[in-house]
Amino acid sequence: MSTLDTARRAAAELLRESTGSDLPEWRATFVGEAHAANAIAPICTDEEHIESEDPSALDCCPEPVIPVDPPLVEYLVALLNADREGRWA
Ligand SMILES: [Zn+2]
Repeated sequence: MSTLDTARRAAAELLRESTGSDLPEWRATFVGEAHAANAIAPICTDEEHIESEDPSALDCCPEPVIPVDPPLVEYLVALLNADREGRWA
């Protein structure tokens, strides 16, 4: 088993508890006062939260909301979402 497989399995339990999915879709988000996205989080499934209108991390949003240096936000979201293609059996 690769290092990535091992790490993915270790993360799956937390992600399953908070999002209902071992490999949730991720998005760029905002925490605090910020002019650029400064965090990543799983997509929010709350029907009241329209992320295209308010991309902030709100109380309805699943954990983990992970603060990230802004230049890395889109890269990490892209990596995590690309990894969803690698779902194990
Ligand atoms: Zn939300």
